[in-house]
Amino acid sequence: MRCPFCGAQDTRVIDSRLSQEGDQVRRRRECTECKERFTTYEAAELNMPRVIKANGSREPFREEKLRAGILRALEKRPVGSDRIEASINRIKKKLLARGDREVSSRFIGESVMQELGELDHVAYVRFASVYRSFEDVNEFREVIDRLEKQPHPNEKRDQPDLFDDEPEP
Ligand SMILES: [Zn+2]
Repeated sequence: MRCPFCGAQDTRVIDSRLSQEGDQVRRRRECTECKERFTTYEAAELNMPRVIKANGSREPFREEKLRAGILRALEKRPVGSDRIEASINRIKKKLLARGDREVSSRFIGESVMQELGELDHVAYVRFASVYRSFEDVNEFREVIDRLEKQPHPNEKRDQPDLFDDEPEP
C-alpha cells in the first residue's frame, strides 16, 4: 500500500480491527518514510445485480444512492445509524440472495419500504409518498390507516407501563 502523503511504497500496519458487523477490516497504517498515518478499509467485493430502471435502462447498483434515499426518509427521525446500516445490509443480502444479474428498481423500492416499515412509520410514509407517488388521496389514506391500526413495536415498548393500570374512563 503506497503512502498517500509521500508516495513511498512501504507502509506498516500498526493496528487492525474488525468492524462491529464483522464485514469490514479497518487498518491503521504508518508510512516507514514520512511517518504519516492513515486508515484503510477492507471489505469483500460483492457483485451486486445491475438495476433495471422503470424506463428499462440499466445502471450499476449504488449503495450510496440506496443509503441517501433511506436517510432522506429518516431525516430528523429517532433511528440510530446502526439500525439504518443493518437495514441496508439486509436489503443488499436480499438482492444478492436472488442470484439474478439484474434486479428491478421496483424490487429495491419495495425492499426499502419493508425495512422502513420496521424502522419508522413516518419515514415509511415519506418514502412511500415519493416512491409510489400515490395516484390519489384515498390510496395514501389507506396506507396511513393501515399503519395506525398496527402500533409500531418500538412505540409500544416506549409507552410507560404505569398507564396500563389506569381505569378506563
Ligand atoms: Zn509517506
